[in-house]
Amino acid sequence: MAGLAQWPWRFWYERELGVYKVVPGFTGGASMILGHYAVAMGAKKFAPRTSLGTLIAAAILLDLIWPALVLLGIEIVSVTPGATAANPLTFVSYPWSHSLLMSIVWGLVFAGGYFVARRYEAGAIVLGLLVVSHWVLDGVVHVPDLPLTPWDNVRIGLGLWNSLALTLAVELGLLGMGVWMYLRATSRRGGIGSWGFAAMIGLMLLVFAGAIFGPPPPNASAVAWGGMGQWIAVALAAWVDKHRRANLP
Ligand SMILES: [Zn+2]
Repeated sequence: MAGLAQWPWRFWYERELGVYKVVPGFTGGASMILGHYAVAMGAKKFAPRTSLGTLIAAAILLDLIWPALVLLGIEIVSVTPGATAANPLTFVSYPWSHSLLMSIVWGLVFAGGYFVARRYEAGAIVLGLLVVSHWVLDGVVHVPDLPLTPWDNVRIGLGLWNSLALTLAVELGLLGMGVWMYLRATSRRGGIGSWGFAAMIGLMLLVFAGAIFGPPPPNASAVAWGGMGQWIAVALAAWVDKHRRANLP
């Protein structure tokens, strides 16, 4: 099957019996969304010289690796409308992207690579912690499906997604805190620093709303291609961050 996704408006072309079906609109989300972005924004205070784009890449690294593994057939997700109140996905198997042990490994790799490239210790430490924070935050929202290692049978997950009200409260609450901390840790440098930032937050909210309230995605490949769209958030955040100055102590 050939697929193409545009993010966040994922027009999905599905070849079925020689017919291309176009499924427009937002489709269900891959993971916790706003919470990861929020933690990355909050982290700017502790690594002021690290770009927000890099901080966000670390916070969602597991979700950037995951779609590639799904498309390669190494990890499995299935679309089950109504799987939880807030998310239509069943994470059947994702030991390499989403086990606690591998999150630590990915964190060490990302932090190590960053340190080699930038020689900025605080940044490297914060980035490593952000990568692992993804597993912890996912553990709050997912139903028990997060493994500890790629090889064991334990599955972690507090199941916040079973409550739409709690999901909204936690995701939006975290985003509010993240925005507040990032704006305190930086000052605008020209207009893009303000309206670019506002546009980025607006886009995040749109994607979140689509994931929660939009129709479930047609199939696992559509989910994976949509997940790849998160690279756009990384690029957008890097661009916005260039137009803001870190308030160094
Ligand atoms: Zn995730």
